[in-house]
Amino acid sequence: MKRKLKQMRPAAAYVIAILAFVLICFVVGRIPTGDSVSQPEGDSAQSDTSGIPWNLILVTNDLALPEDFSVQLATLSDYRNEQVDARILQDLTTMLNDMEQAGLEPLVCSSYRDYNRQMQLFNQERDEFTQQGMDAEEAYAAAMQNIALPGYSEHETGLAVDIVSVSHQTLDEAFAETPEGQWLAANSVQYGFVVRYTADKQEITGITYEPWHLRYVGRDAALAMQQQNLCLEEYLIQQGYIQEAETQTSGSTWETQQTE
Ligand SMILES: [Zn+2]
Repeated sequence: MKRKLKQMRPAAAYVIAILAFVLICFVVGRIPTGDSVSQPEGDSAQSDTSGIPWNLILVTNDLALPEDFSVQLATLSDYRNEQVDARILQDLTTMLNDMEQAGLEPLVCSSYRDYNRQMQLFNQERDEFTQQGMDAEEAYAAAMQNIALPGYSEHETGLAVDIVSVSHQTLDEAFAETPEGQWLAANSVQYGFVVRYTADKQEITGITYEPWHLRYVGRDAALAMQQQNLCLEEYLIQQGYIQEAETQTSGSTWETQQTE
C-alpha cells in the first residue's frame, strides 16, 4: 500500500502539470496580440483599436479614422495601379472580372487615398473657390461640401472604391442608370460590397446618393444589409457594435451634403 501511494503521487503531479500547461496554452492563445498580420479574414476579425471588425470600420463626416490606423495595401494592376486593402483584393478583382465577363466595362477611378492625398484634394478644391473670389473662410466651407476633410474619408480605409464605366466616367447620379451601375447595385453584395451611400439613407450617412461608391463590408454583412435594407450605420447598431447616438451627424454636415 505504501509503495503504491508513493508511485501515484508523482503520476498525479505529472497529470496536474499537463493540465496546467494545457490551461496556460489555452489562455495565452486567447489573448489578443495586436498583431494585425495574424488576423483572420472575415467578419469575425477584430479591429485593433475599436472592437469593430476591420471590414466594418465606420468613418463618417463626424467620425475620423483612428490616428494609429494603418493598412496593408495591394495593387489593382489592371486598373491604373489603384490600391486597396490587401484583404479585399481578391473579391474586388473577381467582381470586376465577372462584370467584364458579362460584357460590361467597369472603370475604377478612385480607391485608397492616404491622408496627404486627401489633404491635397481638399486644398485643390478650396483653392478653386479662392480663385473664384471667395475669402478663405468661404472657400473652406465650400470645399467641405464636395471633399471630405483628411481623416474623414472612407477612401482612407482602403475599403472603398469608386467604380464608373468606360462610357460614363463622371461621378453623378446618372451612373445608377448605366448597365454597370445597375449591375453593381444588384450584384456587388455577392462579392462583399455595398453601395455605401444610397438615396434613402442620406439622413443617416450625411452623404448624398453615390451609386459609384462601393464599400467592402464582407459577404455576410453585405447580404444582411441588402436583405434588411440597412446602411452600415444601421447594421452596426443592429449588431451591437455602436449606439445610435454615435452615428448622428451634426446638422451642418448634413446640410452641406458632402460627397466622398
Ligand atoms: Zn468614393
